Amino acid sequence: MKKKKGELHIIPAFGGKRVPLTVDDVKNMVPEGWELVIETLIHDLLEMGWDGQITQVKEKYGTLRFYTGPTTEKMKNRINQAEHQTEYVCAECGALADAGMGTYQGYVSVACKEHTR
Ligand SMILES: [Zn+2]
Repeated sequence: MKKKKGELHIIPAFGGKRVPLTVDDVKNMVPEGWELVIETLIHDLLEMGWDGQITQVKEKYGTLRFYTGPTTEKMKNRINQAEHQTEYVCAECGALADAGMGTYQGYVSVACKEHTR
């Protein structure tokens, strides 16, 4: 049987049922400007055979944290790359930001010149 592609699940940290997720759900867990980073990351991971298991996706200290179930070394590297990418992407608009810190929704975050306050 062919495995259905693109199925994402959130795995509760303290047990319980797996909850199905859409890519949009995952995007809603992070600042708007990271949409593309998230979208391409999920796409690439699934291409690599990732099972779609997510334990937590969030913003911490202005950059992305993407926690999953079991991954290969290659997938881990791809996640690291995406997390690193968010150090240079405005959390508000997705524009390339030169690691300037501004605030986004009251939190310290990477911001482009226009969105640095
Ligand atoms: Zn911006």
